[in-house]
Amino acid sequence: MRKIEIFDSTLRDGEQSPGFSMNLAEKLSMARMLRSLNVDVIEAGFAACSQGDYACVKRIADEIKDVTVASLCRCVESDCDIAWNALRGAEKPLLNVFIATSDLHISQKLHSTREEVLKTVARVVSYAASLCPEVEFSAEDATRSDRDFLLKVLKTALSSGAKILNIADTVGYIQPEEIRELVTFLKEGLSGGPEYKLSVHCHNDLGLATANTLAAALAGADRVDVTVNGIGERAGNASLEETVMALKTRKDHYGCYTDVNTKLIVPACRKLVMLTGVKVQANKAIVGKNAFAHESGIHVHGMMADRRTYEIIDPEDIGLAESKIVMGKHSGRHALEERLAVLGFTSLTKEQVDELFEKFKLVAEAKKVVSDKDIEALVRAELLDFTGEYRLDKYIINSGNVLSNTCNIRIVKSDGTGFDGFATGEGPIDAAYNAINDALKTDAKLLDYMIESVTGGTDAQGAVSVKISIDDKVVKGYGVSVNIFEASIAAYLNALNNK
Ligand code: MN
Repeated sequence: MRKIEIFDSTLRDGEQSPGFSMNLAEKLSMARMLRSLNVDVIEAGFAACSQGDYACVKRIADEIKDVTVASLCRCVESDCDIAWNALRGAEKPLLNVFIATSDLHISQKLHSTREEVLKTVARVVSYAASLCPEVEFSAEDATRSDRDFLLKVLKTALSSGAKILNIADTVGYIQPEEIRELVTFLKEGLSGGPEYKLSVHCHNDLGLATANTLAAALAGADRVDVTVNGIGERAGNASLEETVMALKTRKDHYGCYTDVNTKLIVPACRKLVMLTGVKVQANKAIVGKNAFAHESGIHVHGMMADRRTYEIIDPEDIGLAESKIVMGKHSGRHALEERLAVLGFTSLTKEQVDELFEKFKLVAEAKKVVSDKDIEALVRAELLDFTGEYRLDKYIINSGNVLSNTCNIRIVKSDGTGFDGFATGEGPIDAAYNAINDALKTDAKLLDYMIESVTGGTDAQGAVSVKISIDDKVVKGYGVSVNIFEASIAAYLNALNNK
């Protein structure tokens, strides 16, 4: 059996796609989850892209050990310098240097020539290798590049010090049979030279990212770029869960394995959904809500006789087993801690667990049974409250169809200063948000508001996600409570705290 290395780009390619941006605390939290999943490489960001990205790459490199941490770099020395500065503290740093190799990109985007690209690759890859012990070279738009030229570029990168050669299907253009041929062609062309690893980076524009990734693995690729839930530019990247579970479920076919701890796949998927507020579609392979749901009589009948009739993956294998443990108001702190560990929240501080336990008791008072989803919602609120400068002290909302909607509110700053606000509104939430703006003298504007019930039942917790614009910035917030007004207020304050 041959090992396929997993290069996770959730925090880079995934994070740079619309709606998936994460702040430092969120990225760090996701990086810890990726570390627990046991991926081989975490691409933590694109350090030269912004100060925010630089800070995230640096923090992850400094804190997350026992795994390679990578930063993307354009094929210019200054990008390598910035990325290397961010990665210095990593146990296993990796500079991922990329340049486009297709004639279309070279002429239209780079305004350059093939000869110039070859020279640049030789110069910058050598420079990167003089800084960092491990350098990956990525050929952007490799699948629409002239094959002989692509091979020449990869040979140049290899002889300049790159140890990993990556071919990117940047626009999701290639077909499975073609990528198999391409990988075979490149491996033949590169044989006899220095040692290297070949990796692929596939996009999903035609829904083939996972299929192409697997075809490349079958043809001998050593490493694959993936993201949790398949997030990424446009239609996304190859999904980690699909790639890993296909290799595992059909090891008879692929003869390959990965080191991923598959039992954390569902917790990782849920964590990303929590952090970004973007759900996966119900019919998504492996992690969709319906991926293990059976309703039709024939299927249910078959499942009752033998699970294997309609399921090829054991749900427990991906961490889907629903808890049989009933959590309620009699469950102690220890029970909560154990449940948190099972759900994959292993890196919470003692203070965070203390606060969670207080909130847990409130929910348990209001509801008889506290589900895993309730606990996850509380953790999410706790994690996002990280930098909480403003907190809700008290409020009164008046609402009805025979009076005007009003809100009185008192917000407390972390230094103890109180701020009182009062406002009317079209409805109770409008009144509450106007009252917060009045109290804090801001002119924040609500761009998006979403409420959902965490579980079923009229006593369910309400989870509110908001996006607000303030000082020309867009920030998101999240709040959860059995009282939807309070969840709404918490979400708005959380967004203000995140600005
Ligand atoms: Mn990409």
